[in-house]
Amino acid sequence: MNFTQFPRRKYIQSSTPIEPMPGLSLALGGNVNLFIKRDDLLPGAGGGNKTRKLEFCMADAMEKGADTIVTCGAIQSNHCRLTLSWAVKEGLDCHLILEERVKGAYNPDASGNNFLYQLMGVKSIEVVPGGTDMMAAMEKKAAELSGEGKNPYMIPVGASNAIGALGYASCAMETMVQLNDMSLKIDHLVLPSGSAGTHAGMVVGMTGMDTFIPVTGMNVSRQKQAQEKIVYDLALETAAKLGITKEIPRDAVVCFDQYVGPGYSIPTDAMVEAVKLFAQTEAILLDPVYSGKAAAGLIDLIQKDHFAQGANVLFLHTGGSPALFAYMGTFRK
Ligand SMILES: *Cc1c(COP(=O)(O)O)cnc(C)c1O
Repeated sequence: MNFTQFPRRKYIQSSTPIEPMPGLSLALGGNVNLFIKRDDLLPGAGGGNKTRKLEFCMADAMEKGADTIVTCGAIQSNHCRLTLSWAVKEGLDCHLILEERVKGAYNPDASGNNFLYQLMGVKSIEVVPGGTDMMAAMEKKAAELSGEGKNPYMIPVGASNAIGALGYASCAMETMVQLNDMSLKIDHLVLPSGSAGTHAGMVVGMTGMDTFIPVTGMNVSRQKQAQEKIVYDLALETAAKLGITKEIPRDAVVCFDQYVGPGYSIPTDAMVEAVKLFAQTEAILLDPVYSGKAAAGLIDLIQKDHFAQGANVLFLHTGGSPALFAYMGTFRK
């Protein structure tokens, strides 16, 4: 796996920490040793996983001479916040198309990521109804900007194309260097699975390096079959881009959909419990939409003895804690 073959902006100076979680492990019965990789601490305003993908996407944009970035996401999108953050740093304009997946949920005065869009000087926000073809909406915006003499570059939702997923194949390599240095044998890796770039990149990296560490994705929106197909297709595309000749087995992609609840971004009791438990045992802030639901899944699997006694389980913290401030009512209930 050679990442120097691609344009890349180096936003990340050092590896994110891998920390033990003894308090949480004990609170869950002590049968499993939990560890966490702190991608919530990645650079970029507010932190989180999209910075790894944006190292490659922003570099591609700049190589193509872009002066403007157009991207899209949900109304409280960490991806939009981080794309805007790196656009600010690079001196590029940034326009956002936000999908109101829950009708009536958009509030221009909302806290969390929404507040940060405005604080960082977003050029425009267009809110479109749930189910809108987001690629088409971005193309329309880009055409408009081109008409004004701009040179726009579109980054898809979550930066989850083969370019962005390189960031997580690279994270797999970073993780293995750390684990080898620590002489820490990890038996399972658990992560949230949303727009799929994180999950797909990790599978490509872990498989490409023959690490034999199974990767388990916790869905945040889709059902198992649909999500596994999206992750697998993107993994194949990413592996091809990297020049990995080995076949990625279909069963390297495993998703659980039991922890989504009523739908994307809609709180569940198990999510609230998980966020509180991480906060109160490890002082680690999860988020309500991704890492909170993924942690709820992790906790449930531990309670069901899904992992062998004494297993070392690594949880990838993908960030998102700024969104907590848009959900305070959910946690105070
Ligand atoms: C985007 C995001 C994810 C999901 O990553 P994907 O690559 O979209 O699957 C998980 N956690 C947080 C906090 C995110 O913002």
